[in-house]
Amino acid sequence: MSDGCIFCQILAAKAPCYPVHETRYTRTFLDIFPAAPGHCLIVTKKHYTDIFDATPESIGLVGHVSTLIAHAVKEELQCDGVGIFQLNGAAAGQTVFHYHMHVIPRNEGDDLKIHSRAPGDPDELQAMAERLRQRAYSMRIDD
Ligand code: AMP
Ligand code: ZN
Repeated sequence: MSDGCIFCQILAAKAPCYPVHETRYTRTFLDIFPAAPGHCLIVTKKHYTDIFDATPESIGLVGHVSTLIAHAVKEELQCDGVGIFQLNGAAAGQTVFHYHMHVIPRNEGDDLKIHSRAPGDPDELQAMAERLRQRAYSMRIDD
């Protein structure tokens, strides 16, 4: 746990989130400023700042979960594609300094942004998390 880290606060249940999936080492929840509906973040449960701080094993586990979440997002939302992004350092656009991966549904003609300035609607985020949670848990991790 790192003081002042919003993702550590979420993991410690001291801040709310819209949960989608959990393993022993990772948590997946919705980005509250979604670049597209269904924008997920996969975070390590242990606090690592970025790719330079995280262990290769923890990065591998996030990558493994990303396959499940990408399939769940694509099947549930029937999107044309899925973007996977992972930013390291302010110069690369990282804004939360706790290792995480973005999983963003994409459709033809989309504005290919990673960050949005507009917060998602709480009711829509709640309903989306429920849909993706059900879909993710109906799949095996190696599906
Ligand atoms: P990055 O810029 O790669 O560090 O991405 C951090 C992401 O975390 C941004 O897309 C933010 O919208 C998102 N974010 C910030 N605070 C929260 C929060 N409390 N719950 C969910 N997502 C958040
Ligand atoms: Zn943290």
